Amino acid sequence: MSNESLANLLKEERRFPPPADLAAHANVTAAAYEQAAGDRLGFWAEQAARLSWETTPTQTLDWSNAPFAKWFADGKLNVAYNCVDRHVENGLGDRVAIHFEGEPGDTRAITYAELQRKVSKAAHALIELGVRAGDRVAIYMPMIPETVIAMLACARLGAPHSVVFGGFSADALATRINDADARVVITADGGYRRGKASALKPAVDEALTRPGTENVRSVLVVRRTGQEDIAWQDGRDVWWHEIVERQSDRHTPEAFDAEHPLFILYTSGTTGKPKGILHTTGGYLTQVSYTHHAVFDLKPETDVYWCTADVGWVTGHSYITYGPLSNGATQVLYEGTPDTPHQGRWWEIVQKYGVTILYTAPTAIRACMKWGDDIPAKFDLSSLRVLGSVGEPINPEAWMWYRKHIGADATPIVDTWWQTETGAMMLSPLPGVTETKPGSAQRALPGISATVVDDEANEVPNGGGGYLVLTEPWPAMLRTIWGDDQRYLDTYWSRFEGKYFAGDGAKKDDDGDIWLLGRVDDVMLVSGHNISTTEVESALVSHPKVAEAAVVGAADPQTTQAICAFVILRGGAAAETSDADAGSGLVEELRAHVSQQLGPIAKPKRILPVAELPKTRSGKIMRRLLRDVAENRDLGDVTTLTDSSVMDLIQAKLPSAA
Ligand code: ATP
Ligand code: MG
Repeated sequence: MSNESLANLLKEERRFPPPADLAAHANVTAAAYEQAAGDRLGFWAEQAARLSWETTPTQTLDWSNAPFAKWFADGKLNVAYNCVDRHVENGLGDRVAIHFEGEPGDTRAITYAELQRKVSKAAHALIELGVRAGDRVAIYMPMIPETVIAMLACARLGAPHSVVFGGFSADALATRINDADARVVITADGGYRRGKASALKPAVDEALTRPGTENVRSVLVVRRTGQEDIAWQDGRDVWWHEIVERQSDRHTPEAFDAEHPLFILYTSGTTGKPKGILHTTGGYLTQVSYTHHAVFDLKPETDVYWCTADVGWVTGHSYITYGPLSNGATQVLYEGTPDTPHQGRWWEIVQKYGVTILYTAPTAIRACMKWGDDIPAKFDLSSLRVLGSVGEPINPEAWMWYRKHIGADATPIVDTWWQTETGAMMLSPLPGVTETKPGSAQRALPGISATVVDDEANEVPNGGGGYLVLTEPWPAMLRTIWGDDQRYLDTYWSRFEGKYFAGDGAKKDDDGDIWLLGRVDDVMLVSGHNISTTEVESALVSHPKVAEAAVVGAADPQTTQAICAFVILRGGAAAETSDADAGSGLVEELRAHVSQQLGPIAKPKRILPVAELPKTRSGKIMRRLLRDVAENRDLGDVTTLTDSSVMDLIQAKLPSAA
């Protein structure tokens, strides 16, 4: 960003107080903010007591070698014991931990007692394959219970896992196996997506032909789809059902140091070469457990929780596996896509299981908006009581749609800002405390310190814009980038002395609440003004004909950058634009709409209706690729795209704009 702070263009006046009954029984009240502000470390020490420690820590934070943190360093615990065994010991063995819903409609309910037996067996199998504490295990799986079981089995043995999205290519998998120096890969023959079996094992076979993957000695394969023509390398490949099923279902967990590595997770690669983010044990589990309890107001006896993220993304790690299970929650795990076999599948699942807490991403909400209000209206969604959002800034209109059409105009929405690096939620409303504002993550959670600074690291006043920073260490923070301490220092700690640089633009409103404005790399410079892609996108999405928008700044001789927008139109409007005249009329209408919402400075120079936008597997728009298109460059790395053919379609539309 240049020397001028982000312009504060969007005004959003709508406010939604917490429902009175939720507030009256909330797990966490406003007192938590005060307590944490008075004694931040004491607050976290108290939260650590949510867990069962074999050795209770006496130290909270060791920051003597900043920014390399140690939390609860003299404590010892086992993560899998905390997520599974202790609930069984507490008499909750019959509670369902996972309601699994396969895409083809097969279901399984797994209780905590069964989960304990399954995790124990899987742990013994890994031991038989030679896995020892400290060995890295790569997990490349569909969204099935064995994925969670595999993660917990690794955690139980102190073997850090590295989960790689099942949608990534053999090359992406090989790079990650190589970087983490994994010894075992856990995979499946395939999984179900979009109505058909989609193979996974061939990508593992191919990845293991790449240099740097020689240390992988075993591939453990779950049979999910039963495809018959699966290649097999004797001595290396082992069926899960053959080795796991015959093991003992009792395993005594060993306690590990609080700073023992729990997992490595490569960031999704929205901005460049993936970074192996390292998370450790005690601090991580403390914060995911606390935030899951506080932000969703989880009542484990009665709630049915569902996070729609893929487990290959950090949200799946923290809010499918570790947060909910450490809290003894009952949750839904769904294998497939939201529109298979019909566009109401998610809402059918909510109705079927009586889901009370739903956690999803703006990209999914915008897709549902595009499909139409009538689809969720066909289902009984009255069980829902808290809705969550994560992954991108949520456009105010998408937020309103979520509240109205999914939340019956009553359910609080928690917009949670955090990153792979932060490990757990950092900014979010609390559903029983906060008066929410559509599109704002609002404020740091209790025990978290965040603010917005300008280029000189000065905190901006209310109404100002700049960079989001975290000003104090937090328990679930990344400890380093795997094998690259220098990159850790350079990426996060060198921009502002003593502060963690998140890489996101943000502004403070007049109440001091924080609004995320997109990645700093995406901020546009137009005629001397820094303009947020998020705000222009939100203005476009507030037009009734637009379902989704992606905005980039393309080099421009007059204005430094010119705003270039790619829009997906809602059902009816999309058909209209195939007629060229109607199309250009709509483009003018949209330009005028943005100008009226945000001012003439934010009016896009070009608007291009497209059928799809390039997204990562976690659903984020990859603006850098759109910038490449808008500036007529060759495309950068596309390996983390969900579907790289999307870019061909967009480029094919472009001659008129080039
Ligand atoms: P990479 O770092 O490789 O580019 P990534 O940043 O997409 O990948 P994640 O760690 O999954 O990988 O995403 C974190 C980012 O997602 C945040 O830095 C922010 O840009 C965005 N984000 C997540 N939640 C929110 C939210 N509630 N509001 C606004 N932005 C969000
Ligand atoms: Mg990032």
